[in-house]
Amino acid sequence: MITHLLAAAVALLLSTCRAQDAVGREIAPWQPGTMDIHQISTGRGNAALYIFPDGTTMVVDAGEIQTLTQRHTGPRPDGSRKAGEWVVRYIRHALRHDPQPALDYALLTHFHGDHMGEVAGGVPDSRSGVYKLAGITRVGEELKIGKLLDRGWPDYRYPAPVDDAHTKNYRAFAHWQADHNGVKVERFQPGRNDQVVLRRDPKKYPSFDFRNVGANGEVWTGVASTTRNHFPLLDSVPQADWPTENMCSISFRLSFGKFDFFSGGDMPGIPMPGCPQWHDIETPVAKAVGPVEAAILDHHGYIDSMNEFLIAALRPRIWTISVWDSGHPTSAVWNRLQSKRLYPGPREVYATDVHTGVRSVINGIGYMGTDHGHIVIRVGPGGDQFRVVVVDDASESHRVIKVAGPYESR
Ligand SMILES: [Zn+2]
Repeated sequence: MITHLLAAAVALLLSTCRAQDAVGREIAPWQPGTMDIHQISTGRGNAALYIFPDGTTMVVDAGEIQTLTQRHTGPRPDGSRKAGEWVVRYIRHALRHDPQPALDYALLTHFHGDHMGEVAGGVPDSRSGVYKLAGITRVGEELKIGKLLDRGWPDYRYPAPVDDAHTKNYRAFAHWQADHNGVKVERFQPGRNDQVVLRRDPKKYPSFDFRNVGANGEVWTGVASTTRNHFPLLDSVPQADWPTENMCSISFRLSFGKFDFFSGGDMPGIPMPGCPQWHDIETPVAKAVGPVEAAILDHHGYIDSMNEFLIAALRPRIWTISVWDSGHPTSAVWNRLQSKRLYPGPREVYATDVHTGVRSVINGIGYMGTDHGHIVIRVGPGGDQFRVVVVDDASESHRVIKVAGPYESR
């Protein structure tokens, strides 16, 4: 009995310690035993920082598109630096508990500029001169990476050689980092749960699991580490139907105790008009993943993503969107996210930004947790509870503008 009381007192103390995040104050530092998922707002593509319970760190994508037209949302905090630079500065602040901040893992969901970085005029050279600094290559130039995971290493030939200027630049970076900087580069292999592991104190957190779900059409079945290929053999279909870059996106499920999180890159779930049904990769992925506490929208909530099956299967309390375009999300996706027919119960959608034209449309048909800011999901000790902390992205104040929760993991 006394042990139970003590445990309850300790739990209360821990939850009180966690409750440091308050509106108007700087976001509290990460604490050992907790897990942070930061969706960093740059307005120029996806960038996420994960801090696992033992302090292991991972970045997922670091996009940097260079064009800015009326259909785009603007750069955050502003255009005085490139997105990759802002991301590095954000990461250094989020890892301020560590005197030598580094990334144990970097993962690239797929080879598009809004996830990897675009090379264009004005993009500077790296110190080696071998590649240019944009997005993920900027991050890797300034923060030491332990292991780099993507869908194509080492030959980058599926479904056809991936050698546009932006991917060429990334490939030069990956090879240079492997040859000269001791970075371990690996192809992401669906089904496995040992390519991303806790690097610092794994024994202390046995309920942590990082499951590779899908890439290149190969999808985990949900049983042991077996997979199934959902794309037909290339020579059996017309080249016009071949898998697109988005369809090849990496997806994964991250678990800590009862807390689960899903990320699926830019995978589609609704075939474009006249296209074959197997272009829907969300459905097999969602079958393997099942219910989660939180998830990021596939393909920024664009027209070909977020099908009914995936929304119903994942049924999270919290959705996040990384926005850089007026189609993020579409009003059809927004409608599906609100549907209590697809799954019952409350849910909130947190967007890093919302295009002005979209704001008025979606405000009329549902509630949004935030329409701007860095979105930080903070998972408490053991994964039992989590909060959402929104941080101002108009400057580098790191000031909290909203705290939601705690929510119970199921
Ligand atoms: Zn994208």
